[in-house]
Amino acid sequence: MVLPYKHEPFTDFNDKQNRADYEAALRKVESELGKDYPLVIGGEKVYTDDKLTSVNPANKEQVIGKASMATKEHVDQAMEAAKKAFKTWKKWTAEERAEVLFKAAAIARRRKHEISAWMSYEANKPWGQSDADTAEGIDFLEYYGRQMIRLGQGREINDRPGENNTFFYQPLGPGVTIPPWNFAFAIVCGTTVGPVVAGNPVLMKPSENTPVIAYKLVEILEEAGLPEGVVNFLPGEPAEIGDYLVDHKDTHFINFTGSRATGTRIYKRASEVHEGQTHLKRVVAEMGGKDTIIVDQDAELDLAAKSIVDSAFGFQGQKCSACSRAVVHQDVYDDVLNKAIEKAKAYTVGNPGEEDVPMGAVVNQKQFDKIKDYIEIGKQEGELAYGGETDDSKGYHVHPTIFKDMDPEGRIMQEEIFGPVVGFAKAKDYDELLDIANNTDYALTGAVISNNRDHLNRARHEFEVGNLYFNRGCTGSIVGYQPFGGFKMSGTDAKAGGPDYLLNFLAPKTVTEAW
Ligand code: NAP
Repeated sequence: MVLPYKHEPFTDFNDKQNRADYEAALRKVESELGKDYPLVIGGEKVYTDDKLTSVNPANKEQVIGKASMATKEHVDQAMEAAKKAFKTWKKWTAEERAEVLFKAAAIARRRKHEISAWMSYEANKPWGQSDADTAEGIDFLEYYGRQMIRLGQGREINDRPGENNTFFYQPLGPGVTIPPWNFAFAIVCGTTVGPVVAGNPVLMKPSENTPVIAYKLVEILEEAGLPEGVVNFLPGEPAEIGDYLVDHKDTHFINFTGSRATGTRIYKRASEVHEGQTHLKRVVAEMGGKDTIIVDQDAELDLAAKSIVDSAFGFQGQKCSACSRAVVHQDVYDDVLNKAIEKAKAYTVGNPGEEDVPMGAVVNQKQFDKIKDYIEIGKQEGELAYGGETDDSKGYHVHPTIFKDMDPEGRIMQEEIFGPVVGFAKAKDYDELLDIANNTDYALTGAVISNNRDHLNRARHEFEVGNLYFNRGCTGSIVGYQPFGGFKMSGTDAKAGGPDYLLNFLAPKTVTEAW
């Protein structure tokens, strides 16, 4: 019997034994750094001469691993392997496919600290953040398995006398999964196993920043008994294989999570029908955010400051859901800002591969330079209230940064920075708080800190975001509890971790028999 879904608990790092276990996992991972990783095509491990080298963002000299890089020929081979695997994988029952995910969840649970420790190195995730990322990956395995069992029963429709009608779901065919680096285990896992449990083999192209963690998932799925060719692992240069994967005539869907620029490019390219293509491609494109916490006149001010700071600086602000705008009622603006500055002081930076620090480094030189540029833009557009220091001598460290008195239409308040930078703006009343909250192209997450029930009810309908939170921060959605995704230019709102997610990778079919 399959037990009801319950999300994976987080590790309590106040417990001495848990800290010791995590430190042991870090040392184990340290002893395995620098290895070579293959492509996986139809179950075969393929090592290439060209390698992607992933490094520790807090220590550029430390090589995490070297991943073989796929060429277009490898993509063709992987697509053939996926097409072959599809013939049998689609015939497995929903329960049989789900069981592979449940076993993978059990393996990941046993290797939890080890997976998290890899993330503390390769993505530079602080311990608690890494632990939550691994837990979310386990949740995707447990939740999507159960959702597939539910969907496998089809849906009830009506019969008429002399007629029998059935309605059920079929997989689409091989597809492509393109995840980002920031939830290096969870999103890689969810975007891969979602389509897979629905019966579709995938070609997975991980981010160049975190190929080793992605490979760990492939290892786990293999150990769990996933048949050869169902998940094909293809790290590589987007310039070499990105468009090729998307354009391929046999690609049935593209399951993308990442930036708006890449997502809109994929969305457009996927609409073209290529020679020999026999279907329209589906695109799931979950993209960026410019997420706002609004603070009402009667809000609890400590809660407001804590919600802003934790949402802005957790994992160095590198979450699509991170708070990058705080819009505060004028009567409490100074108090909330001062409290936020005090709380930001706790967010010191370091190397999570070595110790339990509140913040690590940002992911790479490109992100570091981009954030640094935005800090300069912020100084011109408003006033630096806290932080602003950057240091890329050893790793890519950016200190938590707060700007005040920002123009809601300015670049700091409109463009996704994807780093530990938050801008404060003032509003005269609740109407203006909501107007500013809605004045971006994005609609991903947001939060309202208020004790006014009418105002919360208004926000429920008027605050344009896919995930809205009341009286808490705007990050930290849990699979099966807060289905996640945004609309407007934040994407197709696929609601990862929600009851409708697998429908993105299924084709409904109706069969009628006259009796
Ligand atoms: P990105 O640069 O768009 O990359 C995402 C993925 O796309 C990576 O695997 C990347 O490979 C690949 N890629 C890049 N160019 C491509 C192309 N032309 N064709 C095919 N694939 C291509 O985004 P990122 O920097 O990894 O991630 C950060 C972004 O993701 C932020 O905007 C964040 O808000 C968003 N995000 C959204 C959600 C959500 O649920 N809405 C969740 C997490 C993150 P390489 O890494 O090898 O370049």
